[in-house]
Amino acid sequence: MPQWLADHDLDCFEYSFGRGVRIQQSTAEGIGAEFTRLGKEISVHAPYFINLATQEEEKAENNHRYIFDSLAALTWFGGKRCVVHPGSPLKLDRGAAMDILMRRLEEVARLKHEYGYDDTYLCLETMGKQAQIGTLDEVIRMCSLDKTFIPCVDFGHLNARDLGVFFTKDDYKRAIDRLLEGVGEEKTNIMHVHFSKIEYSAKGEVRHLTFDDEKYGPPYEPLMEVFAEYKLQPYVICESAGTQTRDASLMRRCYYAVKR
Ligand SMILES: [Zn+2]
Repeated sequence: MPQWLADHDLDCFEYSFGRGVRIQQSTAEGIGAEFTRLGKEISVHAPYFINLATQEEEKAENNHRYIFDSLAALTWFGGKRCVVHPGSPLKLDRGAAMDILMRRLEEVARLKHEYGYDDTYLCLETMGKQAQIGTLDEVIRMCSLDKTFIPCVDFGHLNARDLGVFFTKDDYKRAIDRLLEGVGEEKTNIMHVHFSKIEYSAKGEVRHLTFDDEKYGPPYEPLMEVFAEYKLQPYVICESAGTQTRDASLMRRCYYAVKR
């Protein structure tokens, strides 16, 4: 993968533990060494079945295992960023679910410090379905719990959950300004970003598309201009359906073209 990145003029890769953290330390360290050798960065995505809003203590324990196994693997890789989906209220009302989630995350912050993972970031992701926790404001609230909690802003998700909100530079600027105000300059500057065009219906995200889509969006060009204009240094992962390398290159070229 790091060689693939070098061949395609890309900078970073996200290793998915979406379906579980299964990797040996020696394997992970070997992968990490190659990334270091070629000067490329690696992040990880924690399992999708984490739900920090769970009422069940046993499930909360499992969440800890998924998160700290992900952080262990991340450290073996030599990476700094672990992305987490916050969770869903299920049968709870949203306010109560959010209260539980904030309590669970506080415990994660405490353990993260205790286990010695202070030099890694937990990137809390904005989510694409209205039923999921993860509006921009909810993620901003979560990031207030620890200095190593930073936003993972998935602009495709935000666009899908609100049924199409990003069209122009000003639309993106409003989101970035909200972040600057909510999590501050430092965390906004280094924020994690997921980007893809996403089909949506009344309840939000349906499926990831490619940059060939012209119906749902959001467009990446104005976002690259805003990144350049605000002089941000986000870590951007392209999540297009099947055309990730091509679409990541399009974004990267667009960013460096407008930056000059
Ligand atoms: Zn994700």
